[in-house]
Amino acid sequence: MPFPDLAENLAEVRGRIADAARRGAGQQVTLVAVTKTHGPEAVRAVHALGVRDVGENKVQEALPKMDAAAVPVRWHLIGHLQRNKSKAVERFALVHSIDSVRLAEAVSKVGTTIGRRIPVLVQVNVSGEETKGGFSPTELAAGVDELAALEGLEVRGVMTMAPFDAEERTLRAVFGGARGTLDTLQRAGLREARELSMGMSGDYEIAVEEGATIVRLGTVLFGARGT
Ligand SMILES: *Cc1c(COP(=O)(O)O)cnc(C)c1O
Repeated sequence: MPFPDLAENLAEVRGRIADAARRGAGQQVTLVAVTKTHGPEAVRAVHALGVRDVGENKVQEALPKMDAAAVPVRWHLIGHLQRNKSKAVERFALVHSIDSVRLAEAVSKVGTTIGRRIPVLVQVNVSGEETKGGFSPTELAAGVDELAALEGLEVRGVMTMAPFDAEERTLRAVFGGARGTLDTLQRAGLREARELSMGMSGDYEIAVEEGATIVRLGTVLFGARGT
């Protein structure tokens, strides 16, 4: 058994998510198990425990792992996607990281070529941290009509990352700010934009209290990643 504490960790996390959702909006929350840096056995291990959503941050790590794991899960791309790798979006159930209009156009083109809309989230950078990608709320307001016009995309909502180790009130401001950008999408006609992907191991309970419908968890399930 490669992850001896996994079942216990998962049970604990599920309980904490349910409690946080009760304090929040009573929403359904999807747990995405982030398996980056771990092998396909991590995917099989969470699948055996009932997890059906798995996240990876790099296409080149994800694609071979999908084949090697060989279990039916929905794959989420949570890290930056280079435009020259856009074709890979076909293999993912949800792409969380649309961080520019140019990338959105490239992914939309894949969708129109294969004849189905690609489910995506728009990554927003609420805190203004330069090391994090995504649209600032102002850039999103400026670019949303272009996004809404792309026929090969199904924009399901937004994704954000909070500053690492921030104080609670900063986290709440960032998560609340991300929630506010859903309105920007909906007012531009993107009515399917309802998902809020936010919350990682250090901040997921606050994220869920602030309305997260998807949390992306690695460390709290599998333990610290080797670097
Ligand atoms: C690695 C990663 C996560 C998971 O981080 P943990 O702190 O290990 O839970 C979530 N989201 C993104 C975008 C990541 O790259």
